[in-house]
Amino acid sequence: MNKTTSPDLKSWVNIPGGSDFTIQNLPYGIFKYGTKKPRVGIAIGEHVLDMSFLYKKGYLDNLFLNENVFKSVSLNRFILLGKAYWNLTRNRISELLQEDNTELRNNKEDLKAALIPMVEVEMLMPVQVPNYTDFYSSMEHATNVGKMFRPNGDALLPNWKHLPVGYHGRASSIVVSGTPVQRPKGQTMPEGAEKPLFGPSKLLDFELEMGFIIGRGNEMGTSITTADAENHIFGMLIFNDWSARDIQSWEYVPLGPFLSKNFASSVSPWVVTMDALEPYKCDGPVQDTPILPYLKFDGEKNYDIHLEVYLKTEKGDSTLITESNSKFLYWNIAQQLAHHTVAGCNMQVGDLCASGTISGPTPNSYGSMLELTWRGAKPIVLNDGSERKFLQDGDTVIMKAFCKKGDQRIGFGEVTGKIVPAF
Ligand code: CA
Repeated sequence: MNKTTSPDLKSWVNIPGGSDFTIQNLPYGIFKYGTKKPRVGIAIGEHVLDMSFLYKKGYLDNLFLNENVFKSVSLNRFILLGKAYWNLTRNRISELLQEDNTELRNNKEDLKAALIPMVEVEMLMPVQVPNYTDFYSSMEHATNVGKMFRPNGDALLPNWKHLPVGYHGRASSIVVSGTPVQRPKGQTMPEGAEKPLFGPSKLLDFELEMGFIIGRGNEMGTSITTADAENHIFGMLIFNDWSARDIQSWEYVPLGPFLSKNFASSVSPWVVTMDALEPYKCDGPVQDTPILPYLKFDGEKNYDIHLEVYLKTEKGDSTLITESNSKFLYWNIAQQLAHHTVAGCNMQVGDLCASGTISGPTPNSYGSMLELTWRGAKPIVLNDGSERKFLQDGDTVIMKAFCKKGDQRIGFGEVTGKIVPAF
């Protein structure tokens, strides 16, 4: 265990019980405060630590960085510096915030400027994402969708247990938490119809996913091994891969989803680093079908991250509609990255790879409305008594993710998005 994740660490910053942003976490994001330009921040308790200010005031002098790394509209410049610098920065911030450190704590003037209440900042898109890939790594999800979309065939297609199925998504429409999501329009072929219709999707859905951010690329024509994969990953975030099921079921043959997914995906604003996640590594499900050597791996490669989805109606009632966990993923992120590059594809810093919908084994752990309502056959009853088969205009989807071990906790905060009517 590296010393920044030690359960013994305590901070002089007030951190309320149950906070996602403990001193063991220290996730990175981009924030805007007042009229100041966007910059890099670290979440601690109910505050954001202004990294640009700390740099300017000399608190990071021993790190040999330059000002533009933190005075930036994205984390990409910081990520580009590489793992050695991520470690140095994390160690230094951990040190500054520990209860026995008085450097910042006792400098009242600096403290006021460096530590900004989270409620007063606007969080922006954390990473400029050059490329986005979506996997399909949950066996439970793939099985459920297979049963619904291909009722007369095998639920899992023959390739599924031999490779992490994925497709290239759309990076331009990835938005940060809080951004409203317009109901997409498109072609559908309702059951019994003789020709396709055009109009707003009637079966709008969310997909509960986790994403990882590439921290180090590879040259085109080379690949990344499962053993080296973690050295290429900067951190993780919550990912809502909004999906229009009626558009999807008509368009997806034979090349996979297109407009049903590319209208919007939402990310949580804080990127939790792999260092912070280290204590929460765990084994994944047993892979019972022999796999090719390039997909084999050693050690714990899954992560025990508890996931929750809430649906909030226009009136303000919020209902917990599912609870899942990223440990259920059949294909782990090392295998995803090894597979992604095995043909020689070059990953770039900032690329985002998402897991695919994370469904657990029980019906109350499914990661989409499609599965929770079994394509509308079993509507969800919300706390206010209303029912949902799919999302309505005015609904807000809130996803939360956190890791917990005894008293220790780190978390991702949340990703929210409200559905607004089609344009
Ligand atoms: Ca997806």
